[in-house]
Amino acid sequence: MTTTRTRAPLMPLDDALASLLAQAQPLAEVEVEQVSTFDADGRVLAQDLVSALQVPAHDNSAMDGYALRCADVAGLADGGSLPVSQRIPAGSAAQPLQPGSAARIFTGAAIPPGADAVVMQEDCEVQPDQSIRVLRPPQPGQWLRRAGEDVAKNSVVLSKGERLTPASIALAASIGMEYVPVARRPRVALFSTGDELVMPGAVAPQDMRPGAIYNSNRFFLRALLQRLGCVVTDYGIVPDQRAATEDALRNASQAHDLILTSGGVSVGEEDHVKPAVQALGQLNLWQIAIKPGKPFAYGTVGQSHFIGLPGNPVSSYITFLLLVRPFLLRLQGATQLVPTAVALPAHFSWPRADQRREFLRVRRNAAGGLDLFANQSSGVLTSAAWGDGVVDNPAGQTIAHGDSVRFISLAELQA
Ligand code: AMP
Ligand code: MG
Repeated sequence: MTTTRTRAPLMPLDDALASLLAQAQPLAEVEVEQVSTFDADGRVLAQDLVSALQVPAHDNSAMDGYALRCADVAGLADGGSLPVSQRIPAGSAAQPLQPGSAARIFTGAAIPPGADAVVMQEDCEVQPDQSIRVLRPPQPGQWLRRAGEDVAKNSVVLSKGERLTPASIALAASIGMEYVPVARRPRVALFSTGDELVMPGAVAPQDMRPGAIYNSNRFFLRALLQRLGCVVTDYGIVPDQRAATEDALRNASQAHDLILTSGGVSVGEEDHVKPAVQALGQLNLWQIAIKPGKPFAYGTVGQSHFIGLPGNPVSSYITFLLLVRPFLLRLQGATQLVPTAVALPAHFSWPRADQRREFLRVRRNAAGGLDLFANQSSGVLTSAAWGDGVVDNPAGQTIAHGDSVRFISLAELQA
């Protein structure tokens, strides 16, 4: 007679994410750093940024041309012209506009008090006496940029929890911020497990022993961690031995917020990560109802969080993007943790429904639809490199050509 062990039910992704996020105490509440605004791209703002000034500071010109009063133009006789009473380059102070005159003005220069419009130089004709004839009747307010139209004084320009972008660091600079307060970088210890793993460069392709493979996970994991602002200590490949695994974990737990491993969290007897973490700390093994993915471990070793990713490259990659990324963003106090999915038409069919929620590697095509990578195996890394996004396909769902599906951009998931 054979005994069958009852399998734990698979955990929905959203439940796994909620449990994980509940463990992530934002570092911003622990440690805030002032970093040069130049270096703040990708960091998470730890406090609201409030502007001490309005931007623009003054009404200014949106064009090279002439600042004037519309009523003065309307009052001219047919063919009449306005004398030019001052010249205002950007950065210089403007004098009040003399009634019945125009001011030569350049883009960004302050509007002289009394002027109510700018006429672009293309719509003016300079007369032999240097006065100007206006070829089109101006409208009040035309080509004016109003003081404060970008930023009002005392307004919050960027909020705590926002992840800074090139545009947002420029916005911070525009209100005079030389430094910005951000959450400190998470410190992450990374290690790969598996005796089959070989580093590129250690052995040439033609000399690889049977069963050996190059360690590819280490490359996307380190790159993704760095993009997320983490300081990475890379412990390299840890041998498939209980003692070596425990040593590495103990060592890594000293000064890291997170220990991240790939491989060794399945239930095979060569999977030593699980018992090693259990011996030193706590471990919860989750079977997450996603494909690719499924085995995932969360625990603690000392003061460190521990996350064990599956070894299969695409499983490891997808679980990182769906779970580890939001966890690391939350650690930094970020408010936006997951990208928004958009509806796009499938230009493929997916006739076999799976019991698990699937993340299919796809690419947008020029016709506005999605093409599917032919091989969706969790070992086929080409699918992830080829794709520019994933289709988030609910459990039990088939897809017919033309169906609207949920597309999530990999550029956003990898940011
Ligand atoms: P494991 O989770 O350790 O059972 O590994 C599952 C599969 O992923 C096996 O085929 C491993 O060889 C492969 N794998 C594990 N770690 C890596 C890695 N760092 N790079 C590439 N493949 C890996
Ligand atoms: Mg292994």
